[in-house]
Amino acid sequence: MNGLDLRRLPAIFLLIAVVTGCANFQGAPDAPREVSPADMLRLLVFDCGRIRLESVHLFGLASTDTDVRELAVPCYLIDHPRGRLLWEGGLPSELAGIDGWVEDRGGLSQRLDRSLVDQLAALGWQPEDVDWIAFSHYHSDHIGAAAAFAGATQLIQRAEAEAAFGAEAAQYFFDPDLYAALVDAPKKVLDGRYDVFGDGRVVLLPAPGHTPGHQVLYLNLTETGPLLLAGDLWHFEASRRLRAVPLFNYDREATLASMDRFEVLLEQWGATLWIEHSLELFESLDLAPAFYH
Ligand SMILES: [Zn+2]
Repeated sequence: MNGLDLRRLPAIFLLIAVVTGCANFQGAPDAPREVSPADMLRLLVFDCGRIRLESVHLFGLASTDTDVRELAVPCYLIDHPRGRLLWEGGLPSELAGIDGWVEDRGGLSQRLDRSLVDQLAALGWQPEDVDWIAFSHYHSDHIGAAAAFAGATQLIQRAEAEAAFGAEAAQYFFDPDLYAALVDAPKKVLDGRYDVFGDGRVVLLPAPGHTPGHQVLYLNLTETGPLLLAGDLWHFEASRRLRAVPLFNYDREATLASMDRFEVLLEQWGATLWIEHSLELFESLDLAPAFYH
């Protein structure tokens, strides 16, 4: 995405800086303060699939709690002046080769129209252009494209690494075949909060419970403001309203404690919450190449 790769524009930025500087020197009023392109943090949203459900029972909900029977599966690219972070890996990429819905177990169907790698390629990015990868957790609908990014450094909570790469992965509802490429790939194992670029704008926060080392991503965007990408802390709007915990879940009490903790933090930060699987939310978003900043 040449037109949007702001790090390729230093000469133009310098020119703007010189012109602005001259204007100020001549006593012109200051232009409204804007973030320079060199400092801009951007969030791009990608369609990494859909999940269709016969029942919401698996999510700890009664059929009357919500009408929703289809979930979005997004991936996100955070483009920071100091590097690029992929957040979430979506459904398994091989689904992109199959037309339409693919039935899985338990009354659940999945579809993926285009792999994340293909979507990035259309914008001029290769997997090698991504420096960091982080997933809220290692369930199959969050790490499906991960194998292509094995050259990037994984940011993973210690408890998630021990569970996902340990001998008992299946007991946490993980499918290790999907992320076999990540076993020996570069990893930075985290013990809690991690400020990815050191400026407080892209911060991983532990939110354990759904899986042992489930985490969420806090972003502080210039125009959009503070934003929480909440992984699977909630799957549905109704999950939040009813504090509903899925049946495929590691630790119910820890999940409820994480939900409660982030309700307080959202309020304190004045942050927007994105329930990642909310199709209603997803359909309201501007997908890449559009971006949030
Ligand atoms: Zn999920």
